[in-house]
Amino acid sequence: MAPPLARQHLIDPEVCIRCNTCEAACPRGAITHDRNNYVVRYEDCTGSGDCLPPCPTGAIDSWRQVLKPWTVEEQLGWSALPADQSHGEPLAGDVPADVEALTARATATSGHVPPPWSAAHPYVGLYSPEGPAEATVVGNLRLTSDDSDSDIRHLVLDFGRVAFPVLEGQTVGIIPPGLDAHGRPHNVRLYSVASPRDGERPRHNNLALTVKRVVSDRDGKPAHGVASNYLCDLTRGARVQVTGPYGSSFLMPNHPGARLLMICTGTGAAPMRAMTERRRRRLPLNEGGDILLFFGARSPHELPYHGPLMKLPGALIDVDLAYSRAPGRPKEYVQDRMRARGDDVLRHVLDDDCFVYVCGHKRMEEGVTEALRDLCRARGVDWDARRDVMKREGRFHIETY
Ligand SMILES: Cc1cc2nc3c(=O)[nH]c(=O)nc-3n(C[C@H](O)[C@H](O)[C@H](O)COP(=O)(O)OP(=O)(O)OC[C@H]3O[C@@H](n4cnc5c(N)ncnc54)[C@H](O)[C@@H]3O)c2cc1C
Ligand code: SF4
Repeated sequence: MAPPLARQHLIDPEVCIRCNTCEAACPRGAITHDRNNYVVRYEDCTGSGDCLPPCPTGAIDSWRQVLKPWTVEEQLGWSALPADQSHGEPLAGDVPADVEALTARATATSGHVPPPWSAAHPYVGLYSPEGPAEATVVGNLRLTSDDSDSDIRHLVLDFGRVAFPVLEGQTVGIIPPGLDAHGRPHNVRLYSVASPRDGERPRHNNLALTVKRVVSDRDGKPAHGVASNYLCDLTRGARVQVTGPYGSSFLMPNHPGARLLMICTGTGAAPMRAMTERRRRRLPLNEGGDILLFFGARSPHELPYHGPLMKLPGALIDVDLAYSRAPGRPKEYVQDRMRARGDDVLRHVLDDDCFVYVCGHKRMEEGVTEALRDLCRARGVDWDARRDVMKREGRFHIETY
């Protein structure tokens, strides 16, 4: 009888861009890295699936059937994934329960939320850290008011004669110059494209990013974000190394009449701006399909694109803003505004031609999910079941960081 096999979660070192997204997303600390590779510790991986959707390259979605799980030390030495050891045999009946759970959960939650059925085909990974594209900064505009301690920038990168095709919802990687504390090149940092596919300036080979300067860590302690400070300080004419594009799921539908429900905070506005601008430029075509946007920030002065957003026609978009620290106004988060607009939210969520996008701070995810669950429950709808259907149909997309 063939010896029992286990299914092991691994990371493909040939595809991984060492961006650290998976390690930050794993609730169990099962992902670790050294100067060579990002790897998954077999004993600690419970199969929560949290690391899979955020990985921009798909390197994380690698699996092997093994006789004996590979150790961290072995994985750190790889330059390519080893072969599967199954030789076609099925998994043995005595595979540990956690491995079965991992497999089932990974299938249900893996990065395989498909794109909307009518999305355009994205180009992915045209430029790697070893062979990045070079772009020129042609604009760097502060979006937040000068007296605000939040510095968010609208950065425009021009690719000249280098092909860098992107779709709304995709991200690009930025390689900060210099070396990290270990003397090796910095990890790639990801930024959402904030302009539509035909460019920030139509028919020019350029794109826009929305970058927040990181001056404190997630606990509020002072910190100097390597890539964000580098980007925010760039002046016109500077050259930037760009990888990507990445992302083949968080894309917008192309068919007329598709509804969009967008929920975002802070720089999570970037992909929403790209999609809205795409729709705005196509308004004369009368393709229909409304947009409902919930957008949260501390105050109007810290809400990127506040001015232009307020000038968009009501026929294009219904904008609902939540401020958590605006003087003279009650403290509100996006989920509070969603609850206040429950009927409108439900109209979107229950429409089979509605596509939902959530982007921004990681901590918004829970509040938004709770609001959707409560709103659905009050109308006799099971949100979790509804969400699973929407995910399977490529109609529910989350990108939080
Ligand atoms: C899919 C995806 C899309 C993203 N899109 C955007 C975008 O459109 N605009 C944008 O500004 N950022 C975006 N980010 C975040 C971005 O990739 C960087 O993580 C962020 O700019 C910080 O990088 P840094 O090099 O400046 O900080 P680092 O030098 O990497 O970190 C410095 C310190 O800041 C903490 N830190 C890291 N990231 C954040 C953060 N976002 N907020 C607060 N503290 C942080 C770290 O824990 C560390 O202590 C995105 C991330 C992902 C995964
Ligand atoms: S998220 Fe994907 S690309 Fe980034 S380090 Fe993890 S496996 Fe590599």
